[in-house]
Amino acid sequence: MTADAAKKLEEFFNAFAGGATPLLLLDYDGTLAPFRLDRFLARPWAGVREVLTRIERQGRTRMVVITGRPAHEIAPLLGIDPPLEVWGLHGAERLLPDGQRELEQASFAAREMLDKLRAMLKCDSLGGLFEDKANGVVMHWRGASPRKARLIEQKTRALFEPLAGANGLALLEFEAGVELRVGCDKGGAVAAILREAGADAQVAWPVAYLGDDLTDEAAFRAVNNIGPHGLSVLMRRQWHETEADVWLRPPVELRGFLEKWLLAARHC
Ligand SMILES: [Mg+2]
Repeated sequence: MTADAAKKLEEFFNAFAGGATPLLLLDYDGTLAPFRLDRFLARPWAGVREVLTRIERQGRTRMVVITGRPAHEIAPLLGIDPPLEVWGLHGAERLLPDGQRELEQASFAAREMLDKLRAMLKCDSLGGLFEDKANGVVMHWRGASPRKARLIEQKTRALFEPLAGANGLALLEFEAGVELRVGCDKGGAVAAILREAGADAQVAWPVAYLGDDLTDEAAFRAVNNIGPHGLSVLMRRQWHETEADVWLRPPVELRGFLEKWLLAARHC
């Protein structure tokens, strides 16, 4: 870790003080859990569920998961009881711990376009793994050979790119795939959470966002905008170009970060 990153982390945890509810915003895949080809097997790294449970039981922190997955997939994998609030579909969906669910509505034209793509990709998934989401279509090539991945990507881009930019549809790139979708992104989700907490300008309590992928960069920027109380953390094994303040490697540094959080939040 660079000296600047270590200083930023130290200052962040030193700022935990009485009267504030710190906000811990977490991506799931790649951040709290290692990738699995079968995503329904992606459980958190050893010890992570336990320390998150301790943070929850401590009762000082508001924790929210912000994921590209449909929101309902998180609770069974994370295994925390009561479940955490989850913003799914990169922020277009919100699932509260009591089961209430909100889904951003797409225009008729966008839904019609997505339905056509779904029908096509269900018949021919272009060699990749097609995922059907409520607000978009996703093509994954994780696990494919580099040559095969390039082919899948080329075919998918040829299909998706001409449609992006119209009817609210946008292309969302991630590490081993691409999504054509409508709705709020992870940056929008963070902004909405902060607005709701009454803090869209200068935040006076600690807010951290942990993420691993390109789709988390919008959330990093949203957290970076709030000033000295915001901390953006790139949580991944290999470094990549990022706007995050700090780079940490899971699982050891993830557990270390959460343990520090638990200790710091005692002062809140
Ligand atoms: Mg991720």
